[in-house]
Amino acid sequence: MTVLSSEQSEYPEYNSPLHYGKYSSHPWFILRPVSGHPGLKPNSLLEGCGPEDPSSPKNYRPISLLCITYKLYERLLLQRLMPLIDTKLTKDQAGFRPGRSCAGQLLNLTQHIEDGFEGKQITGAAFIDLSAAYDTVQHRTMVRKLLDMTGDLNLCQVIKSLLNNRRFYVQLNDQRSKWKAQKNGLPQAEYACSSWSRSRHTKLVDTALNDTCRIITGCVKTTPVPCLYALAGISPPHIRRLGIAQDERKTQETDIRHPLHGHVAPPHRLRSRASFVQTVLPLQTTKQAARTNIWEDEWQINYTRALEWLDRGITPTESLASGHDLGWTTWKSLNRLRVEQWRCKALMKVWSYTTEDTCSCGSVQAMSHLLECADAPRCSPEDLAEPTPSAVACARYWQNDI
Ligand SMILES: [Zn+2]
Repeated sequence: MTVLSSEQSEYPEYNSPLHYGKYSSHPWFILRPVSGHPGLKPNSLLEGCGPEDPSSPKNYRPISLLCITYKLYERLLLQRLMPLIDTKLTKDQAGFRPGRSCAGQLLNLTQHIEDGFEGKQITGAAFIDLSAAYDTVQHRTMVRKLLDMTGDLNLCQVIKSLLNNRRFYVQLNDQRSKWKAQKNGLPQAEYACSSWSRSRHTKLVDTALNDTCRIITGCVKTTPVPCLYALAGISPPHIRRLGIAQDERKTQETDIRHPLHGHVAPPHRLRSRASFVQTVLPLQTTKQAARTNIWEDEWQINYTRALEWLDRGITPTESLASGHDLGWTTWKSLNRLRVEQWRCKALMKVWSYTTEDTCSCGSVQAMSHLLECADAPRCSPEDLAEPTPSAVACARYWQNDI
């Protein structure tokens, strides 16, 4: 390990623990409200999509860059602390505990509400959102609690030294603040779909996901939704949610740390209710295998055109449809040929975008015309599946027109 001097190092603070010769942490971080900076995370879920002002440093949280030695030491301490502390925590706490997740907590709450419905009870809940919870952890209180739990003064002094001397500065446009000491906060997202899987409101999210798959595959709005997900190689949202719910159910049954472990649902009273414990079966295989099985079954049972789609290379598997290596424009054209949905002249005339509905070959250009056109390279629907050279030639012929 080489110790760079402050002059040699691009970031003088970065190597300071090595200079001091002890495992004290002196992480540095820069708050710079410029999008795409590797040391920053915008507070909003989607950058630029939230209501927050992007020019305000308040709307960014810092990501500390910690030295490797510090990280190793931290892991070592954590390994020894966790078994001791885990037994003393309340069973309702999910944060910072292995085997716990937001999904588990949400299920705990929704199951509690469902049980209430069945027992003719009304459930009230108070949700408290602590603003900037991570950034306002008081070091003194945290170390005192650690001392209460472990009774180990030496350990507490080690932890205290790890939290000491944290510094930061803020850079906004070309202005930079002085270095400030960080006295509070910790050096530092979850998927709620298992609870959503039985909600009627998820369709609103699904609409946005369908649009995303249209962008990926280049398919037009009239394309059947099942084809969108098969071409994009992403299992449909309701199947992904079910897969995660089944995995959570397995954890609920087998892991004693799960908040719902051993939970027995009350007798079923209302037919309209579909609680997690009563409706979800535990996962039997891997998550991916479960998703694929459900997806394939659904295609066989629900879709009358499934066989025709399979012949054209639209398969319910979690991989992009073949031909994606041909470039997006050709792949898009190929996908539109596969689903037989595109901007044909017959439809454009119906929608008054054009007055002509005839193709250059003289026939009416309807949805089914692409593979039959006398002017274009011919190919069969089966050619589209692989795709064969004739299918690629056909896709390339039409790629700028459809
Ligand atoms: Zn034609």
